[in-house]
Amino acid sequence: MPASNRSQAFHDRGQGVLAGGVSSNFRYGGYGDSPIPLYYERGEGSRLWDVDGNSAIDYAMANGPTILGHAPPTVLEAVKETLSMGQLFAGQTELELQLAERIVELVPCAELVRFASSGTEAIQAALRLVRAATGRKKIIKFEGHYHGWLDNVFVSVNPPLDQAGPVESPKTVPHTPGQAEGAFEDIIVLPWNDLDLFASVLDERGDEIAGVIMEPINCNTGSILPRPGYLEGVRALTEKHGVVLIFDEVVTGFRVGLGGAQGMFGVTPDLAIFAKALAAGFPLAALVGRRDLMERFKTEGVMHGGTYNAGVMVMAAGLATLEALSANHGEVYETMARLGERLMQGLRDLAKDRNIPFLVQGIGPVFHPAFTDAREICDYRAFAAADAERRLRFCAALHNHGVRITARGTWLLSTAHTDADVDETLVAAAKAFDEMP
Ligand code: PLP
Repeated sequence: MPASNRSQAFHDRGQGVLAGGVSSNFRYGGYGDSPIPLYYERGEGSRLWDVDGNSAIDYAMANGPTILGHAPPTVLEAVKETLSMGQLFAGQTELELQLAERIVELVPCAELVRFASSGTEAIQAALRLVRAATGRKKIIKFEGHYHGWLDNVFVSVNPPLDQAGPVESPKTVPHTPGQAEGAFEDIIVLPWNDLDLFASVLDERGDEIAGVIMEPINCNTGSILPRPGYLEGVRALTEKHGVVLIFDEVVTGFRVGLGGAQGMFGVTPDLAIFAKALAAGFPLAALVGRRDLMERFKTEGVMHGGTYNAGVMVMAAGLATLEALSANHGEVYETMARLGERLMQGLRDLAKDRNIPFLVQGIGPVFHPAFTDAREICDYRAFAAADAERRLRFCAALHNHGVRITARGTWLLSTAHTDADVDETLVAAAKAFDEMP
């Protein structure tokens, strides 16, 4: 097990000044066998160094943003060049215009853009907009999908199965003490990937429903792909019932391709939220979508604000990120997909050689292994039935051998990962599998 003496000392010191020792509850879990949240010193490319000098090939990638690897030189250069301009003007800049123009070129549903600083808040702007536009209240969200940590949407993300209710009409399960129940009374939770059920709910209650929000690939729950025809079916039904379709592309955006998941699947939502990979680690989100909806921020005074929105530094970071990702017609996506597929297949082969029940789902740039006999996982309930304890032990063993994945088990590639990283990772994975009880 890697040494963690300095992390331990910092963690002890942190107890005196950082609430719970961290700045996000998602960071409580130590990595691997480490019982404490680790402290890091430096990241470069595909690697991360902790304060005890341990290095790891990183597939957590800050949970998605560092699509160009850690400390990407071209983005840092672009940011440095703008630092002396000033940071925030409570006004617009040409950089903001340029980045919006680029997003409109690349993203199928993007006719207009609003910038924000985090995925969570851009999603709130989307929900307010769809209610204002339709005059309806209800929002459909799906079990296992995560749309930020605010009260109205932080429900049924990973509910215990014994509290989740019947599969065809799941209970709305809140996630945290202190959550206002009134905030989610207009949320209807459904299982994802079940088109017949979705059709029957819209037939019955379509005229109450303002919008439907989903991760077009359920990256937060096992990287589950939409069943063939599911997104197309949802698109047709939402159009028929006048319901606004929102894709939460906070993870998939600029990760699975330049047009996001909507570009990849050829299904265009009415609104979409991009964040994470949009600015390679700088805090930037964007709500994009149909002109007639987005114009309501102005024409109907639907409120959206934010002191830090579209700051100079993050606009420069966003532009440089999209420039790097779109160079040579986005060839980096082919490389990421190839390396990710190599990893996915390599892991499958290692598990098969050892007769370990194992399933890997997703696509190259984002995927998720599960310990299960199931041949596929199509929704949250199937994901929750896989052996989570074993996944955590695998995660711990990998970390002990210098490979870091997200605590939820997701693997995220960057353009900085190489074939040599994949080779080294598969050697570590073989050891991890061998050590697991
Ligand atoms: N939506 C999805 C799909 C996410 O994965 C996340 C964060 O992980 C969010 C929304 C919230 O974004 P943020 O953490 O930037 O507020």
